[in-house]
Amino acid sequence: GVAEEDLHIFRSRFATVSVPENITLPEFVLQDAEKYAEKVAIVETATGKAYTYGDIVRDVRRFAKALRSIGVRKGNVIVVALPNLAVYPIVALGIMAAGGVFSSVNPMAVESEIRKQVEDSEARLLVANEVAFDKVKDIGIPVITVGDNKIPDSINWEELLHAADRAGQADIQDPVTQSDLCALPYSSGTTGTSKGVMLTHRNLVSNLCSTLFSVAPEMIGHVCVLGLIPFFHIYGITGICCSALRNKGKVVVMQRFEIRAFMDALIKHEVTFAPMVPAIMLAMVKNPIVDEFDISKLNLKSVMTAAAPLAPDLRAAFEEKYPGVQIQEAYGLTEHSCITLTHADPRKGRPMAKKNSVGFILPNLEVKFIDPDTGISLPKNTRGEVCVRSQCVMQGYYKNREETERTIDESGWLHTGDIGYIDDDGDIFIVDRIKELIKYKGFQVAPAELEAILLSHPSVEDTAVFSLPDEEAGEIPIACVVIRKDAQEKEVDLINYVASRVASYKRIKALHFVDSIPKSASGKILRRLLREKYLGEK
Ligand code: AMP
Repeated sequence: GVAEEDLHIFRSRFATVSVPENITLPEFVLQDAEKYAEKVAIVETATGKAYTYGDIVRDVRRFAKALRSIGVRKGNVIVVALPNLAVYPIVALGIMAAGGVFSSVNPMAVESEIRKQVEDSEARLLVANEVAFDKVKDIGIPVITVGDNKIPDSINWEELLHAADRAGQADIQDPVTQSDLCALPYSSGTTGTSKGVMLTHRNLVSNLCSTLFSVAPEMIGHVCVLGLIPFFHIYGITGICCSALRNKGKVVVMQRFEIRAFMDALIKHEVTFAPMVPAIMLAMVKNPIVDEFDISKLNLKSVMTAAAPLAPDLRAAFEEKYPGVQIQEAYGLTEHSCITLTHADPRKGRPMAKKNSVGFILPNLEVKFIDPDTGISLPKNTRGEVCVRSQCVMQGYYKNREETERTIDESGWLHTGDIGYIDDDGDIFIVDRIKELIKYKGFQVAPAELEAILLSHPSVEDTAVFSLPDEEAGEIPIACVVIRKDAQEKEVDLINYVASRVASYKRIKALHFVDSIPKSASGKILRRLLREKYLGEK
């Protein structure tokens, strides 16, 4: 019989989709690409640099061979510190095709953050551009650099590929299979600092099959996707790049959000689908510069927003300004290979999931909502912690069994740390988050990491970092600090102390001196109490 805790399991309203076996992620993504050899697959808005499908197939092959020829073997981790560039998916897919493990890092990260990831992942090689090179050159492992300028003391991308052309057959003693790891993005999960999320080819191919079920055959070759969401995030590389390439669409790459360049790119490249975060929707609605553009020229059919809740007011304002554009909310997490719940519905004439819902369950997934205290599954219309089980669930956190066991239970359920419920129609609503994670404009900020930095300051006795809601960023990190009695530092000194040690999006936005940090009997920081206390004072 069914265990009591599993009485209420929900499945997709759509039929199961088949997931091909014996095919790696790069093979799956580039299947049939040669038939589209002349078609532009990816173009950079800033430089016009573009790759056709033919170029991509050729360069993924060349890069994989080159990696093999310099000694990369199955399972070797390669850390990639690149902004969104046209070459990005070639780098990622090339690493995977060589049997390597693609471990992306935010190119805005500071040196110590990148070093930490390199050390934790035991990476043997880095890929960077000229800007990131300065931060990685002293880490102590070889660096491949992409870009037009040759950088001393690095392996030049072009030269590496040319050398591969001249070399003999690549040595493939250990063929890559679906059960091999292919990606190791970093996520803080429900608690603590960043951990490597072990994803296999099987995980990512499964996620693509589940998300792409909604693409009608006549859409193949016709979708033009905006590549603005960072490619170092699993959503950027799989949800945008891999999905678009699998569908033989076009990716329009942007490195950073700037409203004028953004509107320009949407119109000029006739972008049909733009994945974004709520902060960008806010700019599209509120920024007066938008009015300099003739928005009737947009070819935009839909926007997708994920990573953070979409405020109902913002949704309404966006719908009013862009009446022809569908808003699809989506929900996902790195630990589940990317998208988990979505709105995209292939059946014409059927309404998508309800407004303000994050969508329905993707095919092949099981979802349940549990009482976080008892673990017992709850019926529909009842709030509980979202748990998901599928082929997309990560293999675990790299070298961290304790956190893995805390996150994935014996029956294979991934505990997300988010609170939600499913309604009578199978639409899901995310209403709260019980994990520590803070999301600033969709970027992960781990309170434990900021607390560790604050505690490293000689004047700090105790500290707690938590989030407050913010219209533009979604959430912002706030700190409370117990400062030593005789300390001279002011709040701003501690804010600056943290700022000099982290990427800009992790900066603490406000810091309060307090007498003590509220903690539970077991010593856990009661962040919720702090949030409630400072919510009123904002
Ligand atoms: P990441 O692994 O960086 O993608 O972060 C995943 C987390 O972002 C989830 O566990 C949620 O807490 C949050 N998240 C993602 N999508 C949504 C959404 N549509 N609404 C609310 N929270 C979301």
